[in-house]
Amino acid sequence: MTVNSPVIELKGAGPELVKKLAILGVHSVGDLITYYPRRYEDYSHISTVDKLHPGVVTVEAKISQVIGRYVRRGMHITEAMASDETGSVRLIWFNQTYRAGAIKAGVTYFIGGEYALRRSRFSILNPSIELASDFPVNTARIVPIYRETKGLKSSAIRKLVLQAIKSVKNLDEHLPKWLTDRQKLVVYGQAVTEMHFPSSASELNKAKRRLGFEEIFELTLAALLNKYEFAKGKALAIPFKQKLAKDFVGSLPFKLTNAQRKVIWRIYQDLEKTQPMNRLIEGDVGSGKTMVAAMAALMAIEQGFQVALMAPTEILARQHADTIYKLMNSIGQGDKVSLLIGGLTPKQKANAHKRIKNGDIKFMVGTHALISEKVDMHKLGLVIIDEQHRFGVEQRKKLQAKAGHMPHVLHMSATPIPRSLALTLYGELDISVLDELPPGRQTIITKVASPNSRKTLYAGIDKQLQAGQQMFVVCPLILDTETSGGVSVEEVYEQLAKHDFKHRKVGLLHGKMKSAEKDTVMKKFVAHEYDILVSTTVIEVGVDVPNATIMLLEGAESFGLAQVHQLRGRVGRGEHQSYCYLMPSDSRAPSQRLRALETISDGFKLAELDLQLRGPGAIYGSMQHGALDLRVAELTDIKLIAAARNAAQDFIDRKESLKKYPHLDLRVSTLRAVTNLN
Ligand code: ADP
Ligand code: MG
Repeated sequence: MTVNSPVIELKGAGPELVKKLAILGVHSVGDLITYYPRRYEDYSHISTVDKLHPGVVTVEAKISQVIGRYVRRGMHITEAMASDETGSVRLIWFNQTYRAGAIKAGVTYFIGGEYALRRSRFSILNPSIELASDFPVNTARIVPIYRETKGLKSSAIRKLVLQAIKSVKNLDEHLPKWLTDRQKLVVYGQAVTEMHFPSSASELNKAKRRLGFEEIFELTLAALLNKYEFAKGKALAIPFKQKLAKDFVGSLPFKLTNAQRKVIWRIYQDLEKTQPMNRLIEGDVGSGKTMVAAMAALMAIEQGFQVALMAPTEILARQHADTIYKLMNSIGQGDKVSLLIGGLTPKQKANAHKRIKNGDIKFMVGTHALISEKVDMHKLGLVIIDEQHRFGVEQRKKLQAKAGHMPHVLHMSATPIPRSLALTLYGELDISVLDELPPGRQTIITKVASPNSRKTLYAGIDKQLQAGQQMFVVCPLILDTETSGGVSVEEVYEQLAKHDFKHRKVGLLHGKMKSAEKDTVMKKFVAHEYDILVSTTVIEVGVDVPNATIMLLEGAESFGLAQVHQLRGRVGRGEHQSYCYLMPSDSRAPSQRLRALETISDGFKLAELDLQLRGPGAIYGSMQHGALDLRVAELTDIKLIAAARNAAQDFIDRKESLKKYPHLDLRVSTLRAVTNLN
């Protein structure tokens, strides 16, 4: 049997069991072996019968006087006595009719369960029992508890896992020996065994360190290999022209922040090389990323290169196109900008294609469909990607094929990514942070509001609407409230439009709407034809409505902190004080997690906090099944991450060949291809 064998090859695994395992994502024997426990229960302390204390206990004893009976209809009880040389204790099982027939007299068992009072007598309730002569999996040890599914309990999973570990031939070490030696990592087979069936807490920790190390090592090795491969591509060098930069900066109505200055300088240096730039600019909403990207683009365009900007949605692509158009038009270059999205008419598209091909259009703005469109970009110098999309090897190859060379790539993200996560996930990027907001930016007053206070809150909000302000109401996809079950954005809209704010104009925006519809709604909101816009998170990034000063988040607890932070960046863009109200779906005391938003206005701090509290998957949901499928490693373990990252660099510096390590090779090539741009 190998890790690739289907689970049906395991003894006792029939079609029914196989189906249940599949629900848990377990198909192969290897899946089962890496189906790590969620937690453990410690039954490792074996007590004699005379020394039992209430709680979780294990004894090593013989079992006698087994009697099963129905005490009333539907309620079956099995009772027995367990005895060692110090005394006897009663065992009770509820509704386990098979017990009586399964217990052998005269043999010694490990018996593990809850020692508690039952009808004025202490007994061990619903114990697991195993022959003391066997390798115990359910008793007498630190017992693994797995994520279960209907009809498949941890005890059954334990048996299967043990069988798998024992039968598989290829649990050999798959990391280089120099690495496991230097890092003092336990060998793979041992780590896996200890992970499921720890011989002690300290052995379990060693196993976790080993497996977590390997996960981060694979991820960072994949990222570094991508980085080196990208660096081999040839880009068009875009020379730095000082006068151009100076004139542009001089034409701006404000001074650049120091952070902007530093970052644009780095970018200009990158662009001068034929080695393609691959840089991420991270910064809070309003920190001036788009401005920096525009300055980079200008340097390219003014020297005859083309630039493509890709946004995650059509709404954002349109807004970017507007901004870029205004900016370029202010220096007399507006006609070089073109929007290219699915929502254009065939005629508009054909026209854009033609003008891109002949070079009239220098700045294309669109969704990432830009790279799959049949667009002939003849001198593509720079690609700008808005928002946390990973731009993978395949996408680059496509672009290279289209343009005939590698463009420089600049990523912009307003999603604050904790450094440890960025290094692991985006190891292939150079990272620049805009950690300074332009002067005079207001803080958005943020308050957790109880649903009980809705009336008062609405009255206050209505005064502001009366005074000419506007409000965003943002809902999670389905709002889960205790009282009403799931509530949809449509229902929230109905409630506000027909009842609470029926004297106001209320708009609705959600992801199922066609792009043209969304666009119309958004335009109406910008034009103040609506006072209130009820929406899902489709307004998440980038939309600019200076007159909107109130944001109300329904079901606030279901958003990540970093996400809320991003959302509230939609208000506070004008001169008036802005407010963000966080409304949880029930009136229980709000969590500390939500409260953090009232006092912390630094997106990176909030992201760190969310990472600690909820793990990476909760922050970046969509990436969970991709690169972020970390089963063991904690992204908050900075030391482990640093060690694994250094090891990945060593692997490359030693010119190690992946071909020598087939398992690692497979993992790394899978990870290298991971992207969320499709
Ligand atoms: P981001 O893309 O990071 O959200 P933008 O580049 O869109 O930020 O800038 C947000 C707003 O601030 C824009 O209206 C922009 O013109 C303005 N802005 C950018 N840089 C500065 C600066 N240094 N000083 C003042 N305003 C700025
Ligand atoms: Mg922006």
